[in-house]
Amino acid sequence: MKPRQPRKPGQSRPVLRRTLADRARDFLAEWSLPRQLSGESPFSDAAKSRMSHTLRPRLEEADTVGTNICPYCAVGCAQLIYAKEGRVIHVEGDPRSPINQGTLCPKGAATFGWLTSELRMSKVLYRAPHSDRWEERPLDWAMDRIAQLTKQTRDETFVETLPDGTVVNHTLGIASLGGATLDNEENYLIKKLFSGGLGMVWVENQARV
Ligand code: SF4
Repeated sequence: MKPRQPRKPGQSRPVLRRTLADRARDFLAEWSLPRQLSGESPFSDAAKSRMSHTLRPRLEEADTVGTNICPYCAVGCAQLIYAKEGRVIHVEGDPRSPINQGTLCPKGAATFGWLTSELRMSKVLYRAPHSDRWEERPLDWAMDRIAQLTKQTRDETFVETLPDGTVVNHTLGIASLGGATLDNEENYLIKKLFSGGLGMVWVENQARV
């Protein structure tokens, strides 16, 4: 008999052929009907296949579940975020939501990948005027700079009255472009601060607020 050659690294296991009798035996062993016909209750384990016995709940290991609104679009589908030891392990639609009733579109269903991607940016990057490179900066520094530039621009461009005397109290030097993931409350604050407070005219949003 020819000796069996050891498998080389990376070489796949040879496919073992199963006979028809093997398959029939496995099928009968898996099939719950004979067990139930022999008197076992269909409400007992007799109705389960061997594979069913090995199945475990998909989220058995989760120790926390939180709620979220899908970050992608204005539909505002509700999500459940499952975590284990502080790490997100699954995201799915929240069945309590009247909007999506437990479903998510493919984009919303991809939230888990987006949330846990190694490519996700988590630091402020700043490119100085005329520079050809990005620099990491603290978030507080970025917020202060945005506030300072906003005030400086408003001070330089604010118009109280037009030449014909019409009172406008506005600035055309600053604009806001929002995303559809902004919710009602955020848009209310944006409109109140930007239009009513700063006098900005151009406040635009993907969702046409
Ligand atoms: S799941 Fe889809 S439809 Fe729902 S909010 Fe997210 S992107 Fe919009």
